[in-house]
Amino acid sequence: MSKPVIATASLAGCFGCHMSLLDIDERILKLVELVEFDKSPIDDIKKFTRPVDVGLIEGGCCNSENVEVLRSFRKACKVLVSVGECAIMGGLPALRNSIPLKECLEEAYLNSPTVDPGDKPIIPNDEDLPIILDKVYPCHEVVKIDHFLPGCPPSADLIWEALTALVEGRPLALTYDLIKFD
Ligand code: SF4
Repeated sequence: MSKPVIATASLAGCFGCHMSLLDIDERILKLVELVEFDKSPIDDIKKFTRPVDVGLIEGGCCNSENVEVLRSFRKACKVLVSVGECAIMGGLPALRNSIPLKECLEEAYLNSPTVDPGDKPIIPNDEDLPIILDKVYPCHEVVKIDHFLPGCPPSADLIWEALTALVEGRPLALTYDLIKFD
């Protein structure tokens, strides 16, 4: 019998949620028995090769490429999960949301103390670069998200419980001890 297929992506995130997935320690051997990975930074598969059962998304959408990747995951994955605060509410990158984009870019590329005016600084505008969005959007504002795993990052135990439940067809039981941070 074929194994359930999972895929993962990091959008505007720090890869901490992926690190937390790897933090399941020796259970990773069981995970390899349970599932097959498709597109993911973990196996470096760049394109979907088949339909996916569970997609895990880290990070929100801060640019046009993030939106494109997220939409491709929604299309390819039966179940899509927002993993971590950046995916759920924008997280740290969304701190820029209260500042107009133009001001953010000017501060980063023109006015920062590390910018040397002698270098004739410019705001990067190569046509190959993704377009920066006006603000950072949580994933559920761009596509339908089926489940949310809170935390920065969610604990390895929480990711393990959610992932195994989803691939085994069990209801998600996110108990208090898995989502508390005190
Ligand atoms: S939720 Fe936290 S750990 Fe995950 S990508 Fe965002 S900042 Fe990193």
